[in-house]
Amino acid sequence: MLKNCVTLGRRSSFLLQAIRMSSSAAGNGKLSGKVAVVTASTEGIGLAIARRLGQDGAKVMVSSRKQDNVDKTVSQLKSENLDVAGLVCHVGKAEDRTKLIEQTLSQFGGIDILVSNAAANPTFGPMLDTPESAWDKIFDTNVKAAFFLCKEIVPHMEKRGGGSVVFVSSFAGYTPMEFLGPYSVSKTALIGLTKALVPQLSSMNIRVNCVAPGVIQTKFSEQLWKNPAIKDMILQMIPMHRVGEPPEVAGLVSFLSSDDASYITGETTLVTGGIPGRL
Ligand code: NAP
Repeated sequence: MLKNCVTLGRRSSFLLQAIRMSSSAAGNGKLSGKVAVVTASTEGIGLAIARRLGQDGAKVMVSSRKQDNVDKTVSQLKSENLDVAGLVCHVGKAEDRTKLIEQTLSQFGGIDILVSNAAANPTFGPMLDTPESAWDKIFDTNVKAAFFLCKEIVPHMEKRGGGSVVFVSSFAGYTPMEFLGPYSVSKTALIGLTKALVPQLSSMNIRVNCVAPGVIQTKFSEQLWKNPAIKDMILQMIPMHRVGEPPEVAGLVSFLSSDDASYITGETTLVTGGIPGRL
């Protein structure tokens, strides 16, 4: 019995290694030859996106605010045979965004894909009690930084003949959450930003899309799934009766970043297990 388990364990680790090698070393994934920048990618949804883009053949620049997180993520993804590099980038800091772009260009020679995933939410409570400082922080990080990073990267995509931008919004952008008012409004703004950028970016052969995740099991959303009573309430809202996993968002982002989505731009796609969205 024990012997069988050991054999099985060995077999599955060989299998895993073979899958990793075939997806990266062969370089024949659907994003082969592309370079991707993914913000807030050392944990949760961003990390899953970085991993998936790498598995699909892209070279990926990961980033977040803390050097330790960047180092840990880069060494983890490299151990999975993925072609990644990383650096610290707080998306709200203009100088960090500039470094992110410069480092990606010098490391990988260009940029084809931007996934703008970072968000902040410093406040939880009745909307009318939100201080101006919280509005500023939420809009600076979630909306302004997303726009400026896109604006700063677009000329480099243009040099490559085109590209793809994906913003990470939320189902709350369609149906505001009661105690997350300003955060929800910032996520609605991203859906609008996606549409507003289409005319100019289309003329540069750059597609711009957006994903709106539902409740995905990450640290960011742990208030919604950690406590069993609250989780039960949340599950009643979700037709599929389960919370989502980060790779379930990452698959969609990889599709939108690839040529399989070559005629899709200006769209926001829900990944919510069936929670409906309507603006
Ligand atoms: P998460 O698991 O808490 O991960 C957050 C990541 O963001 C970490 O890598 C963190 O690393 C980094 N980060 C935080 N602030 C940053 C900043 N200002 N600049 C750069 N990096 C920053 O969060 P998540 O759940 O994956 O959320 C990712 C995105 O999905 C967000 O836009 C969120 O609004 C959206 N979303 C999440 C859910 C959900 O249920 N989880 C649902 C809808 C939408 P450092 O600490 O090192 O910076």
